[in-house]
Amino acid sequence: MATQDKYDFIIVGGGSAGCVLANRLSEDPATKVLLLEAGNPDRHLWLKLPLKFRDLMTDMRFNWGYETEPEAALDNRKLYIPRGKVLGGSSSINGMLYCRCHPADFDHWRQLGLAGWSYADILPYFKRSEAYPDGESTYHGSEGPLKISKGDRDTDAHKAYLAAGRANGFPVTEDHNGVLQDGFGPADYTIGAGGRRASVSQMFLKPALSRRNLKVLTGALASRVLFEDKHAIGVEYRHKGAVAQAMAGREVLLSGGTYNSPQLLMLSGIGPADHLKGHGITPVHDARDVGRHLQDHVHVGVGYESKNSFDAELRADRLGIAAVNWLFFKRGPLTTLPVACLAYIRTRPELSAPDIELLMNRVNPEAHVWFPGIRKPKGGYMGTRVVLLHPESRGSVSLRSNNPADKAVIRHNYLSTQKDLDTLREGVKQARQIYATQPLAGMLGGEVWPGKNIQSDAEIDAYIRSTASMIYHPTSTCRMGSDPDAVVDAELRVNGVTGLRVIDASVMPAVPGGHTNAPTIMIAEKAADMIRGIKPPSPAELPASMAAE
Ligand SMILES: Cc1cc2nc3c(=O)[nH]c(=O)nc-3n(C[C@H](O)[C@H](O)[C@H](O)COP(=O)(O)OP(=O)(O)OC[C@H]3O[C@@H](n4cnc5c(N)ncnc54)[C@H](O)[C@@H]3O)c2cc1C
Repeated sequence: MATQDKYDFIIVGGGSAGCVLANRLSEDPATKVLLLEAGNPDRHLWLKLPLKFRDLMTDMRFNWGYETEPEAALDNRKLYIPRGKVLGGSSSINGMLYCRCHPADFDHWRQLGLAGWSYADILPYFKRSEAYPDGESTYHGSEGPLKISKGDRDTDAHKAYLAAGRANGFPVTEDHNGVLQDGFGPADYTIGAGGRRASVSQMFLKPALSRRNLKVLTGALASRVLFEDKHAIGVEYRHKGAVAQAMAGREVLLSGGTYNSPQLLMLSGIGPADHLKGHGITPVHDARDVGRHLQDHVHVGVGYESKNSFDAELRADRLGIAAVNWLFFKRGPLTTLPVACLAYIRTRPELSAPDIELLMNRVNPEAHVWFPGIRKPKGGYMGTRVVLLHPESRGSVSLRSNNPADKAVIRHNYLSTQKDLDTLREGVKQARQIYATQPLAGMLGGEVWPGKNIQSDAEIDAYIRSTASMIYHPTSTCRMGSDPDAVVDAELRVNGVTGLRVIDASVMPAVPGGHTNAPTIMIAEKAADMIRGIKPPSPAELPASMAAE
């Protein structure tokens, strides 16, 4: 066994949450912090280039590369799951959409009995993390580390989407993260100056690396939390082929993400006792909800041939020039993403929040680099992902074995309730209706997906089952709650033991209706205050339209 170094806090996982914690906790020079990250440093150029994100999803240098078990409602297909295994975690490989989700999502958390988690309570934390280009306002911060840029507003495609939204009776919003999330509007991105990916590692961790009280160890896989009775005292980890231990004088903080945090809890003896014993692990605390309540957004495509497309930019010579412009002059088409519009819509008017997101873009999902005479372009395209925002279906993460290097067993059980399927089908129908509206319809050729032969409910359902995929927002396997079965309490302390918190997307009581990177960063900002004993900021004063019911 290698040395037993001592720290105040040990953070497991240098992802969206872990990097925020490492920064905020090491702000106090008297506090010694260790960050353990299983992946490598994030120096590679591809991790900085926004358009590379599609390749990063399968690049095993930066990825855990998980897979679901056969999904019964998706024709027993196994779905590939990308997760960042690199400093910055999934924020280093994600789609960079900056979206806080709907205020009602967080008001729901408060209604579950979780004091301090209403939208008014947490808005100051979103603002604290943010460097919004338009400066400080009721909804945005300008002094935080996280650089945000604003997406397409002037393209023909964006304008046509807004017009189609209006014509179908949906609201139009200037800012989904402002007073109105509902409706059609532009995307914001975690992309910083010069078109570089604003991963949480680059934005939060890098500025803190020179602090002498912060140590970051990459290539270090935490294998279990060490306990004395029921108090967490440290972490055992594997590094450079050896097993080592680090001791935590104050707390151990798990930020391994929605698949890995419950796995590590179970490897450490916190989980369903029978399941642990079945794998030869002595339970420290019988916690049946560890690994349960897994949720995620599932999506399906609706797409059309179109001349108004990003395809022209993918011609090899043009792409080469764009790459030079991006790398040396920090300008050109590669400094942003070609998402044309986002829409949060309600499939039924009585709903209290949108239940479908339309992620409307102008890039063929199968697009590739092309050049005349050598390789044909994939073809012009406009289309949308239709995303189910509030699934009822619940999945699980469980142990495959007691070996920390083995991947956990992941069952998402997507679309396992009829209501989820009905809502997604209705989303497909509404998307088709929107694309049939002028002036958008005038930009389109034939329907590529689902295809004109797919019209009846049964045909649409079969299309959904055979093609639906995940949108990479897993949450809730270490859910926060005020009930006895909750894995963590409202201060993210693991129930049944002391000295241990979980701080990442796994603690969300329910997956919020949008994208999960910004909410995860917010959770870590708030957790850092809790850990340091800093009084939370006063709740934001919100207009009556946004106040909790
Ligand atoms: C392909 C993809 C696209 C996405 N697109 C978007 C988007 O456009 N917008 C958005 O808002 N969200 C998006 N998301 C989701 C968002 O990035 C995540 O919700 C968020 O990053 C989760 O943060 P986290 O801290 O919970 O986990 P992660 O960021 O995944 O961090 C977990 C970290 O812990 C490390 N780790 C795990 N286990 C151990 C261990 N035992 N020992 C040491 N280290 C360990 C991991 O290597 C990783 O670095 C996307 C995600 C993916 C994968």
